[in-house]
Amino acid sequence: MVAAGRSPALSPSRAGDFRQCPYMYRLRVVDKIPEPPSAAATLGTLVHSVLEHLYDRPAAERTEDTATAMLEPEWRVMLDKKPELADLHDSPAAEATWLEDGRTRLRTYFTMENPQRLEPAGREEFVQFALPDGPLLRGFIDRVDVAPDGSIRIVDYKTGKTPLPQYGHKEKFQMKFYALLVERLRGRRPALLQLLFLKDGGTLVLRPTDQDLDLVEHEIRELWDEIIAAASTGRFRTKKSKLCGWCNFQDICPEFGGTAPDIDPDAVERALGVRPVALEESAGN
Ligand code: SF4
Repeated sequence: MVAAGRSPALSPSRAGDFRQCPYMYRLRVVDKIPEPPSAAATLGTLVHSVLEHLYDRPAAERTEDTATAMLEPEWRVMLDKKPELADLHDSPAAEATWLEDGRTRLRTYFTMENPQRLEPAGREEFVQFALPDGPLLRGFIDRVDVAPDGSIRIVDYKTGKTPLPQYGHKEKFQMKFYALLVERLRGRRPALLQLLFLKDGGTLVLRPTDQDLDLVEHEIRELWDEIIAAASTGRFRTKKSKLCGWCNFQDICPEFGGTAPDIDPDAVERALGVRPVALEESAGN
């Protein structure tokens, strides 16, 4: 049973974590084990920040030169807030190469859109909606555009490359998750969901139907039931896959000879609003 007064929340990233590996989800959401920043993820944050703030400028100033010139000052702001990010690079030359990668992503962006012709209705928009009898859904949407006729487009920037057609489920799920949230909050289904892949200039476009949003709501509810079932027993199973190579938790993962930390029922309850009953009972036996 979900404890009264709690608001356990689900974002597309955490939903993706649980799908990839429930134990990894537990370590992030329940145990809150800190993870070292990665150069790729930090580059993503930096490029997103430039694209967000580019739209603070008057339309005429939103040029490729402006955007690329904004990158390094944005990086200095990030470093001021999190000085530990300086450890990402072994040398000034490595940092310069990494920054140039960021500028290349921004140049690619300008081959995909003309920001001088856009006036976003929202940037890095925080959205949240409590699904009746379900979790609080939340997330940040990179950009929301509203056309003069009121039709809505959701745009998400990815600093990686376009997934092959047989992949990309995670990205599509994320966009439909946001579409559901926006529909519930604004009372209108977004007409267009657009993912811009800044590594290779690819675009993925979805036109969600009522059926798509019904389906994603069903998927979310099913996933949430699985999360609550895991929380109720305190058992978050490992799920080994090719993605383990990118996981920061191998040293405490039983699949790799590590030992899982004891699960703290209070932490489970704080994170997910559920007290693991089976654990409490077995502790009392
Ligand atoms: S290494 Fe693999 S199985 Fe272990 S926690 Fe990470 S994702 Fe899960």
